[in-house]
Amino acid sequence: MHLIQRLILITALISGTAMAEQPIAIAIHGGAGTIRAEQMTGDLETRYRDTLDEALMAGYQVLDSGGSSLDAVVAAIVILEDYPLFNAGKGAVFTNDGRNELDASIMDGRTLNAGAVAAVRHIKNPIELARLVLDESPHVMLIGEGAEKWAVSQDIELVPTEYFYTEERWKQLERARSKDQITLSETDLHTEKFGTVGAVALDRGGNLAAGTSTGGMTNKLWGRVGDSPIVGAGTYANNISCAVSATGHGEYFMRSVVAYDICVQMEYKDLSLERAAHNVVMEKLVERGGEGGVIAVDVEGNVAMPFNSEGMYRAAIDADGDKTIAIFK
Ligand code: ASP
Repeated sequence: MHLIQRLILITALISGTAMAEQPIAIAIHGGAGTIRAEQMTGDLETRYRDTLDEALMAGYQVLDSGGSSLDAVVAAIVILEDYPLFNAGKGAVFTNDGRNELDASIMDGRTLNAGAVAAVRHIKNPIELARLVLDESPHVMLIGEGAEKWAVSQDIELVPTEYFYTEERWKQLERARSKDQITLSETDLHTEKFGTVGAVALDRGGNLAAGTSTGGMTNKLWGRVGDSPIVGAGTYANNISCAVSATGHGEYFMRSVVAYDICVQMEYKDLSLERAAHNVVMEKLVERGGEGGVIAVDVEGNVAMPFNSEGMYRAAIDADGDKTIAIFK
């Protein structure tokens, strides 16, 4: 074999091996909060676990077949949005005046481009609209009626508000309202689990992405927007550090700029993902009274899923192929 041919062969072998060894990883959550083991029947727990598994594998298959982390994040979240079990899409909670106002965001760690929607009322899968904002609009966040008008212009079908009615969420609102008619009381916020959904992923190209979708918090005041659609608070991704999706008491997560803080602690302080996520969720947020957790993945495919609440619906497959599906500590 000629030298040139040999060189080409060696280069192909090296790049082929490098491709094969390029790690992929994904983590998803279905919300954190007061999830008591004694209130969870075997059947309900199985449904949660099966749904987490389905969403996780949908995202993982995208990555495994060479798809992008953005596509993996959307594939996983859409499934969680379509099940009424979670507080996003179909299972969104009600506002104080009995409406469903949904928020979502997605971020590309390669370009730092992001898309978000807030307070939308007729969008079946808000994460898909957030993705469209990222891909097709010059803006980062669209809200309310404007977001829906734009959705129509992008051929997204609007669903009637009744689509989001579920008896369980309505009863949650009634329980919350009977405790406090006008303002959000701390007790209400802590007696129901939060239930937002999110996903973070690393693809074979070394690109990170993060996304989050939510109905917000039961009994929230009209027009209230939490951390989930806020870039840096509920969602953040940067290829030089990590991708994060948060769930918990949004006001605290916004004030602490949780997702960004984790990523920049890796960047500025050279902390591992595990340590950065632990510092923000288990130390800073705990000191400040912010209940909840995050899922995070770094460029090596390490996964961290700390939470300071009783439970967090979560699932992951890390760079070693190790799979986790868990609810309690
Ligand atoms: N973080 C969400 C919000 O405050 C709630 C949740 O995580 O379930 O809107």
